[in-house]
Amino acid sequence: MASEEHYDFIWKVVLIGDSGVGKTNLLSRYTRNEFDAESKTTIGVEFSTRNMVIKGKTIRAQIWDTAGQERYRAITSVYYRQAVGALVVYDITKRHTFENLQKWLSELQQHADPNVCVIIVGNKTDLREQRTVTHEEGRAFADERHFSFIETSALDSSNVGEAFNNLLIDIFKKQV
Ligand code: GDP
Repeated sequence: MASEEHYDFIWKVVLIGDSGVGKTNLLSRYTRNEFDAESKTTIGVEFSTRNMVIKGKTIRAQIWDTAGQERYRAITSVYYRQAVGALVVYDITKRHTFENLQKWLSELQQHADPNVCVIIVGNKTDLREQRTVTHEEGRAFADERHFSFIETSALDSSNVGEAFNNLLIDIFKKQV
């Protein structure tokens, strides 16, 4: 049986995007099934892990959160180093976080491996009345760049597992 200790591959995945889009809560929902309505920056916690089995191989995803560094535009190249995947997150109710996606992608391209797998994630779909970025706009942005796309809610859990798992499957296809 696959124990927590055993794995075939360990992959570093990074979460990027503007402050407040829900990166920390997406990670806590995925790795601990927790949501925090008043989430504050967790200083000191650099990453969380979760294992997934794909085609009989155990993948350990080591998922890094910025721990608030993005607020000061001080994400260091160490954060991106050796990342094989990235969730690039915006908030569907805050248009400027969508407009900043290209900035995050450029930074990723500058620091990460050129083969890094990307999924664009529109978070907070539970706030449907406050939506300012349509599903189609998000999809078109991702399609133009040949990236995957998904909309999620860390609050009601919808598509959170799918966002991480789809990215890991894309990485698997590329690497294995
Ligand atoms: P980060 O700065 O990108 O890590 O964002 P956080 O995870 O700290 O979330 C910022 C705020 O948005 C917090 O108040 C969260 O509770 C809230 N939040 C995160 N995800 C969601 C979501 O899917 N729906 C709603 N309604 N609020 C969310």
